[in-house]
Amino acid sequence: MTPHLQDQFLSVVSREEAIAKFDAALGALSPRQELLPLAESAGRVLARDLSAPADVPPFDRSGVDGFALRAADLTGASAANPVILRLTGEEIACGTAPRLSIGPGEASLIATGGPLPRGADAVVMVEHTDPLPDGRIEVRRAALPGQFIGRAGSDLARGEVLLRRATLIGAREIGMIAAAGIGEVPVFARPRVAVLSTGDELVAPGQALAPAQIHDANGPMIAAACAENGAEARFLGAFPDQAAPLEAAMRAALQGADMLILSGGTSKGAGDLTHRLVAGLGAPGIVVHGVALKPGKPLCLAVCNGKPVVVLPGFPTSAMFTFHDIVAPVLRRMAGLPARGVHEVTATLPLRLPSETGRTEFAMVALSEGPEGRVAFATGKGSGAVTSFAQADGFVQIGALEDHLPEGSKVQVQLFTPALRMPDLVIAGSHCTGLDLVLGPLAGAGLQIRSLAIGSLGGLQAALRGECDLAPIHLLDPASGSFNTPFLTETLELLPGWQRMQGLVFRKGDPRFAGDDPQAALARALADPDCLMVSRNQGAGTRILIDQLLKGAKPQGWLNQPRSHTAVAAAVVQERADWGVTIAPVAQDAGLGFLPLAPEHYDFALVRSRMERPAVKAFRETLALPETRQALERAGFTPA
Ligand code: AMP
Ligand code: MG
Repeated sequence: MTPHLQDQFLSVVSREEAIAKFDAALGALSPRQELLPLAESAGRVLARDLSAPADVPPFDRSGVDGFALRAADLTGASAANPVILRLTGEEIACGTAPRLSIGPGEASLIATGGPLPRGADAVVMVEHTDPLPDGRIEVRRAALPGQFIGRAGSDLARGEVLLRRATLIGAREIGMIAAAGIGEVPVFARPRVAVLSTGDELVAPGQALAPAQIHDANGPMIAAACAENGAEARFLGAFPDQAAPLEAAMRAALQGADMLILSGGTSKGAGDLTHRLVAGLGAPGIVVHGVALKPGKPLCLAVCNGKPVVVLPGFPTSAMFTFHDIVAPVLRRMAGLPARGVHEVTATLPLRLPSETGRTEFAMVALSEGPEGRVAFATGKGSGAVTSFAQADGFVQIGALEDHLPEGSKVQVQLFTPALRMPDLVIAGSHCTGLDLVLGPLAGAGLQIRSLAIGSLGGLQAALRGECDLAPIHLLDPASGSFNTPFLTETLELLPGWQRMQGLVFRKGDPRFAGDDPQAALARALADPDCLMVSRNQGAGTRILIDQLLKGAKPQGWLNQPRSHTAVAAAVVQERADWGVTIAPVAQDAGLGFLPLAPEHYDFALVRSRMERPAVKAFRETLALPETRQALERAGFTPA
């Protein structure tokens, strides 16, 4: 054990205490101000009240195309009894000051927006007049004094406050500011946030991965989240876990920034050093290291020479939650933005949601409409998963004292975005890459689709409860030897999907799998004690097939039971296993050898009560299209 391991998490504090300590160390965070050209002020926050420096409009003007005249001249005018007026001959256009005044019995042609001439007190619309051949006009209506005149200062009077401090500037605000004649706008300066990722394993997105490397998700994500919360984020890249260059990068970053956000290297690993470097970056240094949050326990909060320095946990979901919960509020104060409003809806949990006691837990959920209102499916795949974000609508907070929320609980779901759009089509069950070929065109047509990978059995349960539209399943009934149909009830209808050939996968050239007889290959593999298998999770359709093949044998590697076809292929490619069972398209994609065993039927259990929904009909139609079938065939599937 290295000495630093002992000082890890000696004092994990509650979420509330962490926020209080961080706030106390930060003191008052007053946002800086800057003056921006009007055109650059969109999306910024007004730092001071803006008052009109002059009247808007600056003069009395006509609101219509017509004639400026004296209302008194038109007393009693009507169609039967028109009044004849002399024209001054002046035509008052926009942007020209009138030269001639209007005397009794006179009128001047005036354009919309033209300044009212001296002597005139009303405007009549050109439609209510007729020209006479001698250059005079007939007016067929009486007019009230002031008619169709926009008075000076009627929009904004000089000195009037037109926009208040803390207003978010959008197009409408820019219009007002421009009309008031203000060319430079006092706004809150965007706090400059330097973002850097740490970890020997990190590679920038777009670059190829070497073995054991992963792409840096946190860097771009945190920079974007900072920008969403009013900051000017500068992403400095991913740095290996090496003290000297990392420390130099951190110091340089902090110099030119108002806040520094790192991710990774804050937990118990031997190579984790970010928090130790932060400790030496300036006084008072680390104020919190370890918060009773799940995900997010290793969060490290520091203040160095008055600037917030944060080390977010390495796992992207942990990083995102802790950022939003603890860092974003600080950033928004620095940016002069109001606290982000909490947008919540209530929903029912269809399943028991387990939780760890002693930590405030955030569980991501996807919403669907069930027969008795909204239901919230947990989408979490653990804090290491990034996809749970894209599929979730929001999250549920579970108190530190609860060890679970029971099935059927009513929960408050905090939404990620204020406007909740319920999905048009909810699919819950087993995922297949072929499904993407059906969903792609539907999404392209504007349908909002939620596809929850909760396994065949999970999907079937959700479909039985009427909480999704359809459940993709591939369940073999060992008794009858047939797929899927035996699992349906009268509330469900089977929509045939496609077949996927399952087979043995191995690295091409492995002599144990030479030939084209899968049973012979299997016998050789089982006879070789060095031949390592990879199995599948209990409940998977493929697992049933594996169990049939093994007839009770538990060869080396049997306890390795990943949850997906791709994980099986990856294990064999990376030589963590020598063989497994997966489907042909996945084997083909991974460049593995393949010996076909048996087709698997991937079908859809449709919820009868929801079959009339337009999105469900569109799904059936798209599935039946020749283009879809061809695409499935090209990808190695056999459409029903
Ligand atoms: P650490 O906090 O450095 O121990 O990292 C915890 C986990 O998060 C490890 O699995 C890391 O590989 C992963 N991780 C750390 N940084 C990143 C990152 N920037 N993007 C994606 N995953 C990361
Ligand atoms: Mg690390």
